[in-house]
Amino acid sequence: MNFDYKVECVACNLCGKSLLTHVLTLRGYGYGHCDKFFLVKCASCGLIFLNPRPTRASIGMFYPQSYCPHRIPTIEKCKRLPQGFRIGRKVAHRKRLLISYTGLRRGRLLDLGCGNGFFMMVMKACGWEIHGYEPNLSIAAYVNEKIDIPVQTGTDLSTLCFSSDYDVITAWDVLEHCHSPLELIANARRLLHPKGHFILTVPNWNSVDRMLLGRYWLGLDTPRHLYAFTRHTLTAILVEGGFSVVHLRSEPDPSSFAKSFMRLLDSCHSRAVKPVRRVVLSSYLRRIIRAGLSASSRFGKGSTLLAIAKKTC
Ligand SMILES: [Zn+2]
Repeated sequence: MNFDYKVECVACNLCGKSLLTHVLTLRGYGYGHCDKFFLVKCASCGLIFLNPRPTRASIGMFYPQSYCPHRIPTIEKCKRLPQGFRIGRKVAHRKRLLISYTGLRRGRLLDLGCGNGFFMMVMKACGWEIHGYEPNLSIAAYVNEKIDIPVQTGTDLSTLCFSSDYDVITAWDVLEHCHSPLELIANARRLLHPKGHFILTVPNWNSVDRMLLGRYWLGLDTPRHLYAFTRHTLTAILVEGGFSVVHLRSEPDPSSFAKSFMRLLDSCHSRAVKPVRRVVLSSYLRRIIRAGLSASSRFGKGSTLLAIAKKTC
């Protein structure tokens, strides 16, 4: 596959400084590309990001149709498949989180980076008024037409013309994909009701997953993930964008850990890989992994960071 793309060097999105230190050299992962990329850390505020990186105009080629969040499921199909079951469990968890933290059972919701719309389908079925935003044109068209949920697309978030009084805005595993996280946060602020909630998740740089699996960690989905957040930098960027963080915690993601471990195994060229893969996939070991990850999340080392934020005055 020919990957002819443009790259750009950028200053820190959080503080604007350009004094950066090298953190990790990574290879592009999956979909037929393996170019070298560099993860750097801002010496001033600690934000970790890819630099140089594919430009906004170029990044689309790293999101082929087979990219998992853009695959098109049907609810019937998802009920049948184990993969669909995991997606369903994750969506159900997100629905529970939303209701428990906002106290709302109905309202207006905007899902930023909505992908194939599975979360929106579930919330719509619960009686919520739903809108979505998805930069990928074909998946946005699919959700608009087939699922009948209004989804806007395009790369410029400031052109979003939804009304500005959402009770809840969600961004599940989206901020790390953005060329400018501050831009997405500013637009969430613009579109949120003064008493609304902004709920988001990002991979946790300080997770046990990353510490154990290093460059094979799914949270470093190079070059689709342009940023890696810690509790400190996620809080700082939300505050900079005009929010106060009312809740922040880390959560385990056994499915993501297992996929990251498979990446590690895929990189080994040993005959032992096949039996090890079978053991990892066994339900017994999965239960142990789940218990370990749950324990680590209590100490802030879980796979994902979940933040609930409200607008500052
Ligand atoms: Zn900085």
